[in-house]
Parts: sequence; structure tokens; C-alpha cells
Amino acid sequence: MPEFLDPVAGFGVTFKAMFKKRLTEQYPEEKKPTAPRFHGRHQLNRHPDGLEKCVGCELCAWACPADAIYVEGADNTDEERYSPGERYGRVYQINYLRCILCGLCVEACPTRALTMTNEYELADRTRESLIYTKEELLVGLEDGMVAAPHAMHPGTDETDYYRGLVTEAAPGTVTQPRTTGGEPEAEDDVVAAPVRPGVDAEVHK
Ligand code: SF4
Ligand code: SF4
Repeated sequence: MPEFLDPVAGFGVTFKAMFKKRLTEQYPEEKKPTAPRFHGRHQLNRHPDGLEKCVGCELCAWACPADAIYVEGADNTDEERYSPGERYGRVYQINYLRCILCGLCVEACPTRALTMTNEYELADRTRESLIYTKEELLVGLEDGMVAAPHAMHPGTDETDYYRGLVTEAAPGTVTQPRTTGGEPEAEDDVVAAPVRPGVDAEVHK
């Protein structure tokens, strides 16, 4: 093509593009559903009677390549039981400023306590609000569940829970008083994964 036609050729590209199907997405006004297995925000799951599946083993934290998870386990007692068996996750935090949503933590979890949802709207205005606490990550109660802490289903042991033999809370199950469990109350007590000097010293409180 002669050189003097170059500007016209350039307009030709523009002209052709005007009649192509537009790919622009009108987000956030129009939200497209994600793929079913999209890796979004995490969720801490419960057994069918409401006890928590997390046993505070920290395997998810060790598997995380971004040091985004912080877990503190504690012992269950008969007076204050959060999960079947010996231990539960007293403190559980995920720092979404670090998380790359890779899902390795989900693969590492031995009890299927940790899974991922399709929720992807994780932006916020403060760094603190992007450190999700156990309270924020724990799934809500469904029919047949009673909020932990409470006693295990009578006549069952930990194994029965993992075999799926417990399908709902036993009649008369009541929530026990919380004395030691749960997230720290005071803001100053909130802890998160250790800071890497020179990398993200600004990220954590
Ligand atoms: S999804 Fe990946 S980066 Fe995020 S907390 Fe889990 S292991 Fe860490
Ligand atoms: S979420 Fe799973 S891997 Fe992580 S501490 Fe709880 S039980 Fe262990």
C-alpha cells in the first residue's frame, strides 16, 4: 500500500472496530456470575449440629505461600465445646491484602473446615478491615444447628461426626456460656500473620 494511505488505513481499523460486539462489562452495575469453581473469599464450615469443623491444627497456615493465615488453637472442655474432639480454632484470621486466592489452604485442611466461596468483592478502605476474623469467616447457622459452644450429640464421638452420622443438633441442645473461646474482643489484641521486614511492614497493625 502506498505510504500516503497509512492514515486512512489507521482509520479503517477504527471504523471496523465500531461494528464489532462490545466487550465492555458494566461492573459494578451488572455483575456476571462467576465460574462455579471460582476461588473467592473463604468460609469456615460447621457440622450439621452447629459445632465448628476447624480443629485449630494450623495446617492451612503452614500451607499458605503468602503467610496470609493466622491460627491459634485451644482445648475444648465439656463446659465450653466449639468442635467435636480435643481442639478448636480459637483465633482464625485471613489477611486479604496478602491472599492470592490460590486455594492451597483448602487442600491442606484435613477436616474440610475451610472452603472457598464465589465472593470476589474484597476491596475496602482500610487495611484492618481486610484482615477477616473468625467471626466474619464462620458460616451462618442452618436449620437443625445450634450456635457453638455446645455439647456433642449424645452417644457420639468425634469419628461419628466425620462419618456423617450426626445430622442435626440433639433436642434440648443449648449454647454454653463463652468464657475463653472466640476472637479477642479488644482491637489491640487483633493479631495477624508476621510482617516481612521491608516487604509489607506497612500492611499490618
Ligand atoms: S488461598 Fe492461597 S494465599 Fe490465600 S490464604 Fe489460602 S493458601 Fe494463602
Ligand atoms: S481450617 Fe482446617 S487446616 Fe486450618 S486450622 Fe482449621 S482444621 Fe486446621
